[in-house]
Amino acid sequence: MNENMSGSIGEKISIKENLELIRNRISEAEKKSGRTPGSVKLMAVSKFHPAEAVVEAFNAGQLLFGENRVQEASEKFPPLIAQHPELSVHMIGQLQSNKVKKAVEFADCIQSVDRLDLLREIEKQCAKLDRRIKILFEVHTGEDSKSGYTTEEALIESIKECAEGAFPHIIPDGFMTMAPFTDDEKLIRKSFSTLRELSQKLRSQFPSLPLTELSMGMSGDFEIAIEEGSTLVRVGTAIFGERDYTK
Ligand SMILES: *Cc1c(COP(=O)(O)O)cnc(C)c1O
Repeated sequence: MNENMSGSIGEKISIKENLELIRNRISEAEKKSGRTPGSVKLMAVSKFHPAEAVVEAFNAGQLLFGENRVQEASEKFPPLIAQHPELSVHMIGQLQSNKVKKAVEFADCIQSVDRLDLLREIEKQCAKLDRRIKILFEVHTGEDSKSGYTTEEALIESIKECAEGAFPHIIPDGFMTMAPFTDDEKLIRKSFSTLRELSQKLRSQFPSLPLTELSMGMSGDFEIAIEEGSTLVRVGTAIFGERDYTK
């Protein structure tokens, strides 16, 4: 339990206040690292939190949300999006191919693309719906993370197919990573700078593709991520409080 984020025990978490705090910290980090004010987007990661929490964040001006599990997101978001079309949700968790069909019905972006197979399935399902979707390539940059492309060769193979026009319903918007869970700031920073350098290299190698988004940084490390070039931070706990995984 982090008392800074959620107040004393028994006190209700104010999602609105947490959002204000995080937005201020993002602004400060942008300033500190000479980034353009407003250049870093904030995603509110609402996994394991109920639709009411999403509504509370939406009422405080939050439009971009992130979810890990397709089933959970598919219960929570379509009714909210029907009511508020400006609301947007990205899938950020490891995705099985058989969940893609459902995910592309409501998600605006799949940030956790980690294999060519998955791109093929996303293309197939989006073609059926006649809809285009953004994706990010998730890259494995930290030792204890389990997800993401683990070799540059495999990543380049996927990007190459995109550049050659194999996936007309897919917009390859950029890259995502998770830093290792550690207190060692150097290791965290290394993970983010690795992704930034890789993205710069791949952008010049594939100039016809957007590849501009750098999704990196979570509750515990988003300021470091911004200093290292993040364009989108994914913050859950610091907005919604601790997750209850027993639910
Ligand atoms: C859960 C999750 C987050 C949010 O993590 P917090 O530490 O709660 O901010 C961000 N990114 C991914 C990929 C996640 O799975």
